[in-house]
Amino acid sequence: MTEQTTTHEFQAETKRLLEIVINSLYTERDIFIRELISNSSDALEKMRHESLTKDDVFDAHVPLEVSIELDEEKHTMTITDTGIGMTRSELETNLGTIAHSGSGNFVAELAEAARKDVNLIGQFGVGFYAAFMAGKKVTVQSRSWDGSEGNEWVSEGAGSYTISDAPGLHRGTRVIIDLKEDAYDYALKWKVEGIIKQYSTFVPFPIKLEGDTVNTVQAIWTRSKNEISDEEYNEFYKFVGNAMDEPHYRLHFSVDAPLAINAVLFVPKENFESMGFGRIDPGVNLYCQRILIDQHSENILPEWLRFLKGVVDSDDLPLNISRQALQDNALVMKLRKVITKRFLKFLSEEAKRDSDYYLDFWNTFGIYIKEGVTSGYEFQKELAQLVRFESSRSEDGKPTSLADYVERMGEGQEEIYYINGPNRAAIEAGPYVEMFTKKEIEILYTMEPIDDFVLSYLGEFEGKKLVSADRADLDLSKSGETETDTDEEKSDKLSDEAGNDLTAWLKKTLADKVADVIESKRLVDSPAMIVNPDGHMTSSMERIMAASRMEKGLTPETSTKNLEINLASPLIKQLADLVKSDEDFAADVAAQIYDNAMIQAGLVVDPMVMVERNYKILNKAVGA
Ligand code: ADP
Repeated sequence: MTEQTTTHEFQAETKRLLEIVINSLYTERDIFIRELISNSSDALEKMRHESLTKDDVFDAHVPLEVSIELDEEKHTMTITDTGIGMTRSELETNLGTIAHSGSGNFVAELAEAARKDVNLIGQFGVGFYAAFMAGKKVTVQSRSWDGSEGNEWVSEGAGSYTISDAPGLHRGTRVIIDLKEDAYDYALKWKVEGIIKQYSTFVPFPIKLEGDTVNTVQAIWTRSKNEISDEEYNEFYKFVGNAMDEPHYRLHFSVDAPLAINAVLFVPKENFESMGFGRIDPGVNLYCQRILIDQHSENILPEWLRFLKGVVDSDDLPLNISRQALQDNALVMKLRKVITKRFLKFLSEEAKRDSDYYLDFWNTFGIYIKEGVTSGYEFQKELAQLVRFESSRSEDGKPTSLADYVERMGEGQEEIYYINGPNRAAIEAGPYVEMFTKKEIEILYTMEPIDDFVLSYLGEFEGKKLVSADRADLDLSKSGETETDTDEEKSDKLSDEAGNDLTAWLKKTLADKVADVIESKRLVDSPAMIVNPDGHMTSSMERIMAASRMEKGLTPETSTKNLEINLASPLIKQLADLVKSDEDFAADVAAQIYDNAMIQAGLVVDPMVMVERNYKILNKAVGA
């Protein structure tokens, strides 16, 4: 075979990534060693997996390991692995482009993170290109496990790279880094050893530094809990989670039945998704008998647990299972169920053990628990124990559990009530809580857009129906204090006859705006409020669905509501007289009362029409 060298341009995104890596990542430089060892480890995992099922592996006898050689004179670091290696075309695609889907976004986000806080870079895993943080020139020699002849990739990081034939290599990959002048330290053994111990202790293959093995390779999750120190766990978390912080929670468990499982799961401290990093990838790796089968597995946990980091290892899975087959494998589904239930039970226990610490978790990751509720019924019972909401009885910022609410329920109360609003003050000033306050019935405040959907999905808790206080058929007659109206209150009200006349007139006047107008049994001070005849829909849910329809360019399509009026309210009483003396003006007042009630329900009104009418009414009031 003739020696053949070809020159290639880096893909545009790769050029930008290289620029960022070379120019702005100095403080985080050490991570390049972690990135390269992690690539080697991946290649070794793949090799171990392949050799289980294939028998024509090139260099099959070579032990699986990483070795690192340093040369202080020549200022080089060489990292060699006996993994699956790369063919010529794999070198070209893997080390010339960025594999991430949406790589454009990835680079933009990386640039932004580098600008904000270089410590965030670690979260990205810049991968192989990190070699250019310390190297002025990087050479990669690689030979694939398929036995095809090896090749050499060389680049100085600026614009292009070359690939040449490199006959006679062993299977695997060797990365040779010619260190930059200000990075000569990386040829010092003590320095490199420290970095490996910090970042790569848990790599499941021997890492040999100048011939000495510097890591222990026993999988931490197979060891017994009381032999493992907090520090070791935390280091392991940083390793599997590619994390810089310490975990908020950790769960290490082993079971033999119904399936053999060893798992270590971590809840991080931060939620990177909410910090604007886009949707995070699942962080739990699936092993079978200590062999990695599925990294960042989509299958081993439900999607809404994607914030977890860690490993799950089961001896019951077939080793040669393909990644596609994992998706609908009955055993994997069973594993998923067992692990999810176990983790949710753990959270429940933690919530009982230290509720304030649990609230920290809830404030950061509660959104995923809510997502879990709305994405299926499988774990609903467990999830219902974990949700938290503020309530009329809870302290500001200290939401309550449904179980605690039920425990506080008074005699005769059969249902759990909730009402949506933008914040505590707005809810408490609104009409919906008036009767709850009067009767001293606790009511949950749902303040996030997703909350009413969550409660609607749950439907009930421990046999108690979850009911929104803006439902038309809400009946509080049996709950709370059951005193009837005093004589004084009765005499203060509009007579039945006048009340009937007024509701009939309002219905005619507001016509297609309302489904019905009825006398309220639950307003105390406010003149009117909007309620939903459809028991499955709350005003908040409707607002969100209307907004999402409008985003798609569709009409909002809101349903018509009932208007409840308070016959004891002075405004309503005066209105009954006004209908007789000045019906046109009364119609304006009625329309304004309706709009006000809609706004208090958080629903949309036409602002132009409303403001114009409002001025008309004000003019009359001041006598203009
Ligand atoms: P990532 O590891 O996130 O995929 P990298 O840029 O680090 O991104 O590597 C790109 C690809 O190059 C890897 O997915 C892998 O296919 C290949 N690769 C990198 N290092 C090695 C190695 N030591 N052995 C085999 N393949 C490798």
